[in-house]
Amino acid sequence: MTILAEILAVGDELIHGALLDTNSKWLAGELEAAGAVVQRFTVTSDDPAAMREAFAGACARADVVVATGGLGPTLDDRTRDVVADLLGGPLVFDEASWAQVRHWLGSRGRPVPESNRRQALMPPGARPFANPVGTAPGFGVRVDRAQLYVLPGVPREMQVMAKDHVLPAVRSMPGITPLAQVWLRVLGPSEAALGERIEPFMVPGRNPAVGITASGGLLTIRIVGTAPTAAAAAEACEATARELRPLLGAWLFAEGTVELPELVVAAFKARGLTLAVAESCTGGAIANRIVDVPGASAVFRGGVVAYANEAKEALLGVPRACIEAHGAVSEQVAAAMAEGARTGFRADVALATTGIAGPDGGTPEKPVGTVCFAVADATGTKAWTMRIPDLGRAFVRDRAVFESWRVLLQGRGSG
Ligand code: AMP
Ligand code: MG
Repeated sequence: MTILAEILAVGDELIHGALLDTNSKWLAGELEAAGAVVQRFTVTSDDPAAMREAFAGACARADVVVATGGLGPTLDDRTRDVVADLLGGPLVFDEASWAQVRHWLGSRGRPVPESNRRQALMPPGARPFANPVGTAPGFGVRVDRAQLYVLPGVPREMQVMAKDHVLPAVRSMPGITPLAQVWLRVLGPSEAALGERIEPFMVPGRNPAVGITASGGLLTIRIVGTAPTAAAAAEACEATARELRPLLGAWLFAEGTVELPELVVAAFKARGLTLAVAESCTGGAIANRIVDVPGASAVFRGGVVAYANEAKEALLGVPRACIEAHGAVSEQVAAAMAEGARTGFRADVALATTGIAGPDGGTPEKPVGTVCFAVADATGTKAWTMRIPDLGRAFVRDRAVFESWRVLLQGRGSG
């Protein structure tokens, strides 16, 4: 038996393309980790008829439905009305929820408009969920086949409420299938070559399932297993990983279900090394992603965005003669940038990028997509050049950032 889940996102802003539905993505990951099988996302406008159809459909098909959005105090927030309508009863005023809304606003010295009373209205039979980080209370209620959870649209409020009320309930549902994952990060082979190497593992229906996804030259082997308990699922995935590792050898450069900047910070922490960056064409993107990682301060000393030649000279000590002789996009300048950052930030390792992201600035010798990298560490400095396909400015820059993660994890040189 499996627990089927569906996710609903409500809001005109989502339908009109003004806002990306990040709530559903987050919920899907969490629900799957809790052991439910997510079978569909639906995004609807704030129109009651569209919402009603979406809620009725999801609650007829799934065991768990999680909806976000439309719980605000204004008349265009209609989720609670639609759910009451589906249940065939009037909204019921919940004193305790109203007290919480008043307390949240009052303790911040804000007025308590009467319109906020709407937020304390609950569909018949609903269990209200307190909102510890905002005004909109959520609720849970049985609708048709489903246990329906309705959460606020604001991502932070939604996440807190899901962790407090939805995910624990899902984890304890009978029939839940605990799921575990191991990700093996691979660099070097083509997707086809990797597929051949691990072919016996990629049979349909295998548990744990083994699949390959490719992104920007990086291949990820995802091992996803289910078992009666979470511990057994984790052990099954680990057993498959133990069989795969010897087949991968030096291709395997990282493991774990986290993103690459997280892996970089963890790797530097484990080795007791500090990092600095000097960025030209990546414009601070490397530093930005590193700083996203909690605990980055243990590792990251700082970064310089040195875009103009003068900035490369003044902030990183790149000799003007070096820029004049070799050009700003050259291995020599990249090396001098890395050395300048390593010295200036007193870091163990410094990485530099300088390249031509386009659409202008390319030459026959250095076409758009030419990016030079350098890494300086205690053993010296190494620089190299990548020719990234000219698939647009954003692509070139993303690919350069990606190459930086690779080199910081794997070591120097373009493999
Ligand atoms: P609402 O509960 O509909 O009033 O939503 C409040 C705010 O949460 C919206 O203005 C959006 O900024 C944000 N929001 C709503 N739904 C989503 C979603 N699916 N993904 C990300 N943000 C959302
Ligand atoms: Mg809304």
